[in-house]
Amino acid sequence: MQFEVFTLLPEVFPPYLESSILQRARQRGLIEVRVHNIRDYTKDRHHTTDDTPYGGGGGMVMKPEPVFEAVESVLGISSIHAQPTPYPIILLTPQGRVFTQRVAEEFSRYKRVALLCGRYEGVDERIREHLVTDEISVGDYVLTGGELPALLVIDAVSRLLPGVLGDPTGAEDDSHSMGLLEYPHYTRPPEFRGWKVPEVLLSGDHAKIEAWRREQALQRTFKKRPDMLEKAELSEKDKKFVEGLKSKAQEE
Ligand code: SAM
Repeated sequence: MQFEVFTLLPEVFPPYLESSILQRARQRGLIEVRVHNIRDYTKDRHHTTDDTPYGGGGGMVMKPEPVFEAVESVLGISSIHAQPTPYPIILLTPQGRVFTQRVAEEFSRYKRVALLCGRYEGVDERIREHLVTDEISVGDYVLTGGELPALLVIDAVSRLLPGVLGDPTGAEDDSHSMGLLEYPHYTRPPEFRGWKVPEVLLSGDHAKIEAWRREQALQRTFKKRPDMLEKAELSEKDKKFVEGLKSKAQEE
């Protein structure tokens, strides 16, 4: 899968992309991340990428010319002719639809994804209207730029691609994949400072372990994110268990 990133701060990306799982995925050719400096697509002597907002007010706005130039020449498209692209051109913005595991799954089905990082007060509105095909927010807070959000999208999408995680089932039980938070994990030692690993995990009884993990997932979702339970796919057994949790909570 190919990620095309458009940014004014390309130096932000290598430290993260050259570490751990993403580094390995890149080396094995499972993902390619190409980072493009929007400033390289300016045509004026001063390489201007931003200007003051029409109508006044503070801050600067990213100019449309270098952004259109960068995206169109790298992707080989022309927005003037409004050609639809077979992949999304995503603007990172706090005004976009919120990035979730479902959205990561959606993006993981494409062969290519373009990510446009804003800075300052954001981008000229014509970029939003005529160049991008999607707008993504990483949460209801405002960051100084779209670089961290772009890395976040790259990370979450990449780990869903076949072969990226060492364990092929690694992402299946993750929190949010199944509509629930994931069960707790333990590793050696079996006892640390007097705190013991739950007995069932040492039992070697896989059916019991699976049942325990499911209950733990339901229990922590019920406690921490009850909103998720409303949408989760639950078996009759799960529903019964959740009913039990509800009555217990009412008694307390
Ligand atoms: N003035 C803008 C607004 O109120 O919508 C915020 C601009 S923000 C300071 C600068 C850039 O950071 C944005 O253009 C966007 O690319 C990025 N950004 C900030 N918060 C974000 C978020 N929650 N999700 C995605 N991108 C974000």
